[in-house]
Amino acid sequence: MTTKSSSIPQRSAWIEIDVSRLKKNFDYILKDKPPSLNILSVIKDDAYGHGVKTISKIALEHGIREFGVTNLMEALEIREVSKSNKILMFGCVRDDEIEACLDLQISPTLHDIKHAETWNRYCKSRDVVSNVHIEIETGMGRYGVRYNEAAELISKVGEMSNLKLDGIYTHFAMSDELDKSFAHKQLNRFHSVIEDLKKRKIHLPELHTCNTGGFLDLPQAHFDKVRLGILPLGVFPSKVCRRIEGIEPVMTVKSKLAMIRELEEGDNAGYGLRFQAPHKMKTGVIPMGYGDGFPRVRNNGRVLIRGKSAQIIGGNAMDTILVNLENIPEAQTWDEVVIMGCSGDETISVHELAELKGSVSYDVLAGWRHRLPRIEVEINSPGL
Ligand SMILES: *Cc1c(COP(=O)(O)O)cnc(C)c1O
Repeated sequence: MTTKSSSIPQRSAWIEIDVSRLKKNFDYILKDKPPSLNILSVIKDDAYGHGVKTISKIALEHGIREFGVTNLMEALEIREVSKSNKILMFGCVRDDEIEACLDLQISPTLHDIKHAETWNRYCKSRDVVSNVHIEIETGMGRYGVRYNEAAELISKVGEMSNLKLDGIYTHFAMSDELDKSFAHKQLNRFHSVIEDLKKRKIHLPELHTCNTGGFLDLPQAHFDKVRLGILPLGVFPSKVCRRIEGIEPVMTVKSKLAMIRELEEGDNAGYGLRFQAPHKMKTGVIPMGYGDGFPRVRNNGRVLIRGKSAQIIGGNAMDTILVNLENIPEAQTWDEVVIMGCSGDETISVHELAELKGSVSYDVLAGWRHRLPRIEVEINSPGL
């Protein structure tokens, strides 16, 4: 059988990426930031499930010239949109990935002298100079050279013929909560490295420490550049961090009402007999489930139909969510169902779903599976 995928009708569950919102969010961020502060757009994990190409294209239109990724596939996708912009790879690059990084002109993060020497050797053999960043471990306990050993490494890398130190950075473990004491501790450690480098008269490249939480709440930590992932997507990382007026979520998750049915008193619904109708009632069947990244819930959570809340009943399946339609008698088969986003005056936020999932907003955004098609839409609401 030969069927062109483009001729297959779209499935009844999908993700809308509102490009007009995304543009406005970048506008509001650019207006909020100090003029000299640069932005690096973090698009790891397929731009938190929003699509690398969509986000990087709009970021480029807003003058952003550098991207952050965690693997080669993401870098490759950016290169399809932009040949020349800087790409910083977080984490560790394996030796067998170096050639590909050089082909794609990716700046690696270096963490130790052996790693730096290997890079320098590869660059020398190709007669190229590679931009590199050094990450300083100040309290996250993962990548980077420990702060008290950092100046030594930075000084040695500065002497390597085919490496150009383009940035020095660290990453906050807790930047979006009220208690900023640990962020300050990390910041002090970072400053101690800078002081040491100044004493050694080492030229300082771009310095950067902030993710979204730091950008919003730690202006004293901005340095030359901030690395923003979640904020342009319209989601604030916590309930307590500073808000920028006008920023709204870019992603909406939708489905349709595939079937409306009548349960008799005592009828069951769903796997594991988790729900039994207390009386005759109207219910709806929605053709998506945990196979799409929806949390596995039991008689918990809700969806929106015609601007009203419909409670989830029973345990959702891989491809099915069952809802109570008692309060929405006007509901019709194939009505639109909002899983995450707005309908009328009602909103199901990413934070509400994060609570349902027992996780964080980042995980909910990035957790929607790729079997849900991503569709770019432009819903023109009044902006700047
Ligand atoms: C993911 C990540 C960011 C972006 O964090 P947000 O809170 O989404 O802005 C910044 N820096 C590093 C090193 C990261 O891994």
